[in-house]
Parts: sequence; C-alpha cells; structure tokens
Amino acid sequence: MSVLIVGSTALDSIKTPDAVNPRLLGGSASYASVAASFFAPVKMVGVVGEDFPKPYLQLYRKHKIDLEGLQIVAGKTFHWAGEYEVNMNNRRTLETELGVFESFTPHLPKAYQDSQFVLLANIAPSLQHHVLEQMRRPKFVVADTMDLWLNIALPDLLKLLRRVDGFVLNESEAQQLTQEHNLIRAAKKIHRLGPKYVIVKKGEHGAILSTRENLFVAPAFPLDRVVDPTGAGDCFVGGMMGYLSTAKGSIDANLRKAMVYGSVVASFCCEGFGLKSLTRTTRVAIDRRMKILETLIRF
Ligand code: AMP
Repeated sequence: MSVLIVGSTALDSIKTPDAVNPRLLGGSASYASVAASFFAPVKMVGVVGEDFPKPYLQLYRKHKIDLEGLQIVAGKTFHWAGEYEVNMNNRRTLETELGVFESFTPHLPKAYQDSQFVLLANIAPSLQHHVLEQMRRPKFVVADTMDLWLNIALPDLLKLLRRVDGFVLNESEAQQLTQEHNLIRAAKKIHRLGPKYVIVKKGEHGAILSTRENLFVAPAFPLDRVVDPTGAGDCFVGGMMGYLSTAKGSIDANLRKAMVYGSVVASFCCEGFGLKSLTRTTRVAIDRRMKILETLIRF
C-alpha cells in the first residue's frame, strides 16, 4: 500500500539562536513524504520552480518518493523564512514568498488516483479539496492545516472537513477554530464539523487523539536537545500515515501505534536542521526508539 501526499514543497530559511541556514529543503509535503517513506512507498504531489536544487530531487529519490506528481515549472520555488526564540516553542514567520504556488493547480497522475491512504498536508484548503476531487475511493483521508487558513480561508477549510476522515491541527489552531480553551471540548466540536478522528498536536507534549467514543494520548519522544523543530508536525502525521498504510487490520486498531510511530519520527526531525537528521536515520533506529518510548510510558 502506498501513501499519497500533497502539500507544500519549499525552500526554507531557518534562523535559531545558534545558527542560520538558508534555502534548506522544506515544505509540509517534503517533511511528511520523507517521514512516511520509512514505512511505505510515497507518491508526492507538489510544485517547485526551476531554481529547485537538483540534490533535493535526488534526496526525494533516495527515499524512493514517486515524483510523477511533482510539477517543475518556470518561476521561483515557494520560499519560507522563520526565526526561533531561545524557547523553541516560539517561532515567527519572517517571510513567505509564494512563487510558483501562486498559480499551482495539483494534477493527479492516473496512477495516483486509486491511492487508499491520502495525506492532505498543510497547503491551501482549496488545493487539498482539488486533490480529493480527483481521487476515486480512498480508504482513509487525513488533512493537516495551519493558522493562516483559519484566518483567510475558513469557508474552504470547513467544506474540506466534511469530506475527510481525520483532521490534524495544533493546540492553538484547535482553540482558534472552536473558541474553546479545553482541548477535549474543542475536539468534540471539531467532530461535529465532520472528521471522525481529531488529532491535536501539542509539540513537545505529544498529541491527543479524539474519536467519538475514545481518547488517546501519545507522548512525544523526550529529547535533551532540539536543534530545529521545523516540520516536526508534518513528520508526525507523515510517519503516522506511512505506518497506517502498511499495518494489517482496521484504522481503529492501528491508529494509536501509528501516532506513537509519528512521535518517534518527529523526534529525529528535531535533531537537525531541516531534513538533515531525519534523512540519515533508518527504520531500525526508529524501531529502537519505539521500544524506548514504550518503556517510558509503561506503568
Ligand atoms: P511546521 O513546522 O510543521 O509548521 O512546518 C513547517 C513547514 O511549513 C516549512 O517547511 C514551510 O515551508 C511550510 N510552510 C510555511 N508556511 C506555509 C504555507 N503558507 N503553506 C504551506 N506550507 C507552509
């Protein structure tokens, strides 16, 4: 089983208190696709400009990411710049240059249209919707988002939510969307908007899964040094979808373990700038951390 992932494909310039790294490989689809690739074959949909560095295409290929759905067009690749404070939970966006994203329409190659597991990673909800329109009968569709879309594209996002199985968002976005501070109540309100599975990401404090019947709390893997948390949320959901697509049995039976896998993959992402640390890891190292995390939470 493969995973179809649509989202942003970007050049990221990241500033932390310790270093500045310009034009790294970034974007929600890049992070999520590399994360998912440790578990399953990935088909990626996105757009880059002619300035997109060749070694970044090679990196996708190294992870066996199918690039038939990646458009390479005239113009500049989407560029995002962000700066972290000493407390890395605080980040501000310095610059967003849409470039080729401004006129992007995702087209699904024929071979992608039957995909069973679909991750609509962070990108404008109208584009996420456009991808869904081209799918035949996906088994499990999850959408991610960001505060920007709550601010400027809420009607599109609400329309999308009626069509997805799962919705992933962070704590402050859940609060903004529902006007509820309490996350359990916020999740209940989000169920009423459509999604059966609501996953609220809480950064270094893990993630909560809410279904109509149950709750689950997935821990984050504790790290004593975070180099760059950019893309950790994308890696979480990418890893989760990658594992789910290969696990035997129902979504309900596998989703909790899938979230813990997502946490572990995200932890590797945080240990280096951009995708540097994650691309160096292996499935064996991921499984080793799964075992450690299991012992940390058993009681
Ligand atoms: P995260 O740290 O999970 O919020 O994800 C960071 C990634 O989101 C970076 O690689 C950015 O390139 C990407 N990103 C930033 N702004 C946007 C946007 N408006 N649309 C899509 N992706 C974005």
